[in-house]
Amino acid sequence: NATVKEMILSGLNEEQCRAVTAPEGPVAVFAGPGSGKTTVLTRRILYLLEQGNSANQLMVVTFTRAATREMKARLEQIAPGQSKEMYIGTFHSLFFRMLRESGEFPPPLLGAKEQAGWIREILGQKEQPADEETIGTYLNQIGLCKGNAILPGQLKVQKQKNVLFRDVFSAYEERKQAEGVWDYDDILLAVYSRLKRPGFRDYWQNRFRHLLVDEFQDINRVQYDVLIQLAAGHRCLFAVGDDDQAIYGFRGSDPRFMLKISEDFPEARRIILTVNYRSTEEIIGLSERLIRKNRLRQPKTRIGTGKTGTRINWWEPEDENDEARRILLCLRDGKESAILFRTLTQARAIIDELVRRNIPFFVNDGSYSFYRRFQVQDMFAYLKLASDPNDLDALARIINKPKRYLFGEEWLDALWNLARKRNLSLLEALPHLPGLEPYQIRYFKEMREHVFSLKNMSAAAAIRAIRETIGYDRYLKAFAQETGSDLTSLMEPADELLLAAEPFSDGQALMEHAKKVEARLKIPDEQAKVKLMTFHRSKGLEFDRVFLIGLHAMVLPHYRSLQVPEQRKNAAWEEERRLFYVGITRARKELYLSASKTRQGKRSGISPFLKEMGFAGGEESDRDPVLQPKRLPEAAAWRQRSREQPQLRFSHEEVAQGMRVNHIKFGEGVVTEVARLEGVAPGRKIMVRFADGLQSLHYELSRQLG
Ligand code: ATP
Ligand code: MG
Repeated sequence: NATVKEMILSGLNEEQCRAVTAPEGPVAVFAGPGSGKTTVLTRRILYLLEQGNSANQLMVVTFTRAATREMKARLEQIAPGQSKEMYIGTFHSLFFRMLRESGEFPPPLLGAKEQAGWIREILGQKEQPADEETIGTYLNQIGLCKGNAILPGQLKVQKQKNVLFRDVFSAYEERKQAEGVWDYDDILLAVYSRLKRPGFRDYWQNRFRHLLVDEFQDINRVQYDVLIQLAAGHRCLFAVGDDDQAIYGFRGSDPRFMLKISEDFPEARRIILTVNYRSTEEIIGLSERLIRKNRLRQPKTRIGTGKTGTRINWWEPEDENDEARRILLCLRDGKESAILFRTLTQARAIIDELVRRNIPFFVNDGSYSFYRRFQVQDMFAYLKLASDPNDLDALARIINKPKRYLFGEEWLDALWNLARKRNLSLLEALPHLPGLEPYQIRYFKEMREHVFSLKNMSAAAAIRAIRETIGYDRYLKAFAQETGSDLTSLMEPADELLLAAEPFSDGQALMEHAKKVEARLKIPDEQAKVKLMTFHRSKGLEFDRVFLIGLHAMVLPHYRSLQVPEQRKNAAWEEERRLFYVGITRARKELYLSASKTRQGKRSGISPFLKEMGFAGGEESDRDPVLQPKRLPEAAAWRQRSREQPQLRFSHEEVAQGMRVNHIKFGEGVVTEVARLEGVAPGRKIMVRFADGLQSLHYELSRQLG
């Protein structure tokens, strides 16, 4: 049917059409951001349906649930009703469905909160620090192992830290078994192991004629192995991805699996898309200047469509609250905007401001709320006690923060009775508890006075008093020391709270505001024009206007992500650079980069990535220095030519030393050296002497472009 086919290919360029209509067989589409990978994949689905495949012969993998929704919506527009039957979703949801369809009933699944709770308990039993960051690190590492099909028994560990990890991992697995539940990775591992059974394997190999995978660069070993086996029969794997956007290495994803497709399916058709349809030249130029610094990547040509827009805006506000207020001013025009940040804590200021001005927004990170961090809740307990000295829960929460050596729970009853008998509040009665040591009596008297005095302070002064005079910071330091946890990350919520407290007259007002924020976060508004999310969550999405905030040193690259063995430092550094790259490339028209002069009350430098790109930073100026991305000389002409011609032209098929070549950008040259490349970009590296000097090129890739 010609019209349907026209519709499927409408608006696509030649390379894209080639991908959409590729004959049956493996296809790998490697291309940069905004080049239409997801578009091509969606059209490919429609094309396959049009070619007579039935919906239930297809399996389509997206990276997030949001991406699944998006793709289903796009499919519904052209092929109504088809996406319901189709296996389309994240690896987890698809594999779960496979198990169900095979007659299995997977046990209940552990939610993220429960998982964290378990790790907290296990660490507690081992008397180890159990702050959120540590728990997060453990869960990532567990995911890393399971993504590689490694279970605790298989871990060979020697260092004490690693032994501890193995023990926690194994306690976690045992508890899951005992309670008869699974985590999400167990779904993947279940399918992985079922595939060893011929019955299961044959059924599913047959069932899925076509496998289509988006964001292939973030696939892990288990997922890859499963896919390869599923595709082994019909050999119709359609993979799209971009190695420059691989950002889940810390959880076991590996962009090298993209290249492994060519090994496992030597007949794979490789298609490269070069045009970025999403962004303006300014945005593309900036992103290229950033990613070019990565060494572990496939070299590639990326061009824009010539759209020009506004200049890149560079901000250095005074502090985070100031940054938030400036964003709010921009948001008044009601345009679609996304605010992206490296860590969730950084969303605090902007969320506060959005709530204050009653502007609808959507946080693409579920349940996170800054005001529920334990440090915040601890300090709130002091504030509550100040206004209600009979608040038993609040008192119990902070009695040993800092240490006042009142252990067990008996004192609670004793205090209660004592207070009633003497007609005192709990807080007042505290120093009169029987059996206290003299130094404890002193502690409690002091504490009583300090807590009462909080009532007459501004919110910020009260928080400062809790931290300094009452000694909450001392508690955090002792906690970090005793447990060996990271003091910087423990202190962060405390510093952030101080900043959050600034606008409020007293502690009560601050807590009321926090309640309002919680309430707003509980009713997410997906349709809101303003979207907030981490760089990680922004993958695959696009927005007219993007604000990248908090671009500080220590944040980007994040210092925690660099705490890896020496030999993995560079890789970690580059992954953070890719993360920034993903953020920048989400923008269609307008991009704002911002790093406040202070971060959580302290002076802070800007991200080294910004410096690499030529941002000065650290200047004391009221005006915003506006950055104009440098244009490559003759960039436009080059762009035009590279659309029409292969990048590198050879007179012979095989490359050899001494051969004359013609390069679109560098002109005529002579090959001086040919070397084999292994690893990230296997193939051949050639050194070519051009008039302007020696250049190192990747032969296979250069040819691909032709
Ligand atoms: P990412 O790497 O960020 O996931 P992507 O390669 O998946 O990006 P898409 O999201 O598919 O890119 O496309 C980016 C934008 O470009 C979309 O708005 C899409 O509609 C548009 N687009 C894609 N192909 C074309 C084309 N041939 N002509 C015009 N616009 C296009
Ligand atoms: Mg995409």
